[in-house]
Amino acid sequence: MNEQLANQLRHCKTLPTLPAIAVKVIELANDPDINLDDLCKYIMLDPALSAKILKMANSPLYKSRRSASNIRQAISILGTHTIIVIALSFSLTNTFIRNPIKGNGIIDNTQFWRRAIASALACRTLGEKLGLRFVDDLFLAGLLQDIGILAYIAIMPDEYEPVYTSSNDHDALLMNERLTFSSGHDEVGYALLKQWHIPDHIALTCIASHCQPEPQMASSPNLYSCAAVSRYLAEYFLTPSRPENLINLIRSARAWLDIDSETLLEVFNAMIEALDSIGDLFEITFYTPAEIAGILDEAKELLALQTVTKVKELEEKTQHDGLTGAMNRKFFDETIQREFHLSSQHQFPLTIVMIDIDHFKKINDTYGHVAGDEILTSFSGIIVKQIREEDSFCRYGGEEFALILPGTPPDAARNITRRLKDAITAHSIKTDDGTEIRITASFGVASCLNGIPCFKNPIDLIKAADSALLEAKKAGRNCIVEWKQS
Ligand code: GH3
Ligand code: MG
Ligand code: MG
Repeated sequence: MNEQLANQLRHCKTLPTLPAIAVKVIELANDPDINLDDLCKYIMLDPALSAKILKMANSPLYKSRRSASNIRQAISILGTHTIIVIALSFSLTNTFIRNPIKGNGIIDNTQFWRRAIASALACRTLGEKLGLRFVDDLFLAGLLQDIGILAYIAIMPDEYEPVYTSSNDHDALLMNERLTFSSGHDEVGYALLKQWHIPDHIALTCIASHCQPEPQMASSPNLYSCAAVSRYLAEYFLTPSRPENLINLIRSARAWLDIDSETLLEVFNAMIEALDSIGDLFEITFYTPAEIAGILDEAKELLALQTVTKVKELEEKTQHDGLTGAMNRKFFDETIQREFHLSSQHQFPLTIVMIDIDHFKKINDTYGHVAGDEILTSFSGIIVKQIREEDSFCRYGGEEFALILPGTPPDAARNITRRLKDAITAHSIKTDDGTEIRITASFGVASCLNGIPCFKNPIDLIKAADSALLEAKKAGRNCIVEWKQS
């Protein structure tokens, strides 16, 4: 994270301050010789917190234990570690729910915490199902892994708003944050938790759960891989009817934890069973009893997706842009990450081309939006005809497209882009009244050469192609500019 951002976070006045009890509990969490009396004393200073802890200790979440009638008993039944983590989960969530970040119209605070609590429950339930120890750490890690989003809103609401609102989903948000501010909310969240002195293994979840899964991880689930899947499980839990949520869940669960849909459904059911306890404790309603039957019915879809072919079919549907048939932004974000990684690992060349239709606003203004839409679709058709199967043509946003050309060095990319430019100029589209519309486009090209490390990460490669595109616009449009290292 850059120094300026770190400073802004350090001196941020709009983030709620931690209540004294939370500060004390964190101190105890970092103390290897923690004293039971101390813990008891501090928790009992806050009657509301004590009542919640007692309720949680006696809830079905800790089903096999004896029941506790006071905090001391709760600590002796559940252990100091569990009580500390429960206390932290409550007091942090409460602080933020009670003190929404000021000037924050970007995000619905209740929705944010609803999703965070669902992630926490998902993370805990996954860990429990997979036989992990310290399920309460899983709860807290799941709860706090996206806290960086709130930190961003507090630090720079105006700059963050367009980035937040233009991102279709969580992965796109992370990518856009990295593009715009060079750090994602993963790093900012980690920095904030470190500032609060949250134990390192919990704080690190922010970073680790937002990474790409490593092959060895699937065979040995841990805090981080459960947290990574918990985000997708929470999204699915909150909106099971969105096919993207189902696909993301199935894919992430395979990649990070190597678990199948049947296991996921069991975890889902366990989450439903825990809902009452969690809802009571956090004073949040996920579903009314009447809704639960419907939600469970939706979730049975999981079982219908046991075969790889079925998953692939649904995936196909969720990867395309609805209007143009090009691949969508999410697909682009994932593919560029993967191809960049392959290209650096095996020293293959990789080229990306950003393409933006010239004066498209004028076309809309002159011929209307419907004609504009038709043009976007036939434009995509022209390009798709000219590229190889291993290339990806994606709608980056509006009338801007991106082409990923794996294994393609600059000279080959030059030929392809010239061919594309000529094909677009040669094509004309007839509107209903017989008017012929011709369009042109501008191209920005950037390549990773074999074995020469020009770019640190895929974002720098995209930025390079973007700046080349800007040059092409400045040079008068309808032209191709290749990025050159200055
Ligand atoms: P430039 O040559 O600098 O790229 O100019 P431009 O007019 O193409 O660029 P600008 O970004 O100012 O305008 C893009 C326009 O594209 C504005 C927006 O209304 C239009 N647009 C974006 N998405 C769609 C869409 O799905 N359908 C239609 N019809 N128009 C769209
Ligand atoms: Mg344009
Ligand atoms: Mg544009």
